[in-house]
Amino acid sequence: MKIHEYQAKELLAAAGAVVPRGIVATSVNEVLAAFDRLGGPVVLKAQVHAGGRGKGRFKNSGADFGGVKFIKTRDDCAKVADVMFKFPLVTKQTGADGQKVSKVLVQEAADIAREIYVGVVLDRTIGMPIMMACAEGGVEIEEVAARTPEKILKVPISPENGMQSFQARRLAFDLGFTGAQVAQAEKIMLALAKVFLDKDCSLAEINPLVVSPKGEVIVLDAKITFDDNALFRHPDIEKLLDESEENPAELRASRAGLSFITLTGNIGCLVNGAGLAMSTMDIIKYHGGEPANFLDVGGGANKEQVTEALRILLSDPSVKAVLINIFGGIMKCDIIANAVVAAFKEVKPKVPFVVRLEGTNVADGRRILQEAGLNLTTATDLTDAAKKVVAAAK
Ligand code: GDP
Ligand code: MG
Repeated sequence: MKIHEYQAKELLAAAGAVVPRGIVATSVNEVLAAFDRLGGPVVLKAQVHAGGRGKGRFKNSGADFGGVKFIKTRDDCAKVADVMFKFPLVTKQTGADGQKVSKVLVQEAADIAREIYVGVVLDRTIGMPIMMACAEGGVEIEEVAARTPEKILKVPISPENGMQSFQARRLAFDLGFTGAQVAQAEKIMLALAKVFLDKDCSLAEINPLVVSPKGEVIVLDAKITFDDNALFRHPDIEKLLDESEENPAELRASRAGLSFITLTGNIGCLVNGAGLAMSTMDIIKYHGGEPANFLDVGGGANKEQVTEALRILLSDPSVKAVLINIFGGIMKCDIIANAVVAAFKEVKPKVPFVVRLEGTNVADGRRILQEAGLNLTTATDLTDAAKKVVAAAK
């Protein structure tokens, strides 16, 4: 689960880091009121669940700025805020349609002498969280990591004891912090590691962590992502979800307990089990088709879930054919066949369906489908199913 920058900064502040003064606004008027309160210059920061905002652009706006804009005057503030709320923001991470902006963070502007990267992720090779840091932070960190990986410093963090002060101080020295900056940087790093561990994050990063010409250390940007499988332990974090940032179909699927990811093709897939769903997408591609989604209804899906899954699949206008691929293991084929029949009655699909059933009670399952007289093609095995659905989608 992702959250906004302003929420990430609130979590860091609660863990002991000093963060810049900022006010979240949802309209141009609120942005102006925030500008007056902070007493400019400020930076207007579009709050979307995507990085690379500074280098992004507002689609069809003609404006020459992105989602992070330095503002000196009240006039300028109104003009920029107007664009931010009106046009979707397109960045490297949003896709071509961009993301609608409904919140803008108005933050006191900082003077920048140096930009540094710090982030905590899980290092799967050592089986521990690590803090990664780089003296050359800012918007090009991915390139630094790709071209000169030796510039990325790594410090393992004990899951039991957390990051230790000496580790944070040593890292601060290695990053070139001097004098009073060291203690400020240490406090921020300890807070970052604490949030990562306490809240079961998959990523917690500050990019950039800035040093001002006066030597202040400032958390300029922050990004935190949580491990969905641990969210049940953090009701406070679950509440931070901004549903307007989520793909509506994926949100609906997660409410129904389905694992669903939208893709760009035209063949809808309804499959039980993540591994089978992956191989189903592979074999569709192998036979020249493109899957429209990944969908795992799980091992114990019921009639309601299968119906909801079909509704979600068929609500996507790019879906031109659907493949139902079920291996009855825990799930029995007759149960899934009954669910498909019930779902068909309700959803009344207009696109061709191919069904491949195998496993426990498969004879019953096939009989149920046949007797229901549904307009669908059955397949004998996975290859047959893939060929038929690819042909049907063309
Ligand atoms: P991102 O593009 O989504 O990562 O957004 P950031 O908040 O990291 O901002 C991108 C860049 O804008 C930063 O790396 C800075 O160079 C610049 N920037 C952001 N805030 C300020 C600020 O307060 N003052 C100045 N001078 N530059 C800023
Ligand atoms: Mg950034």
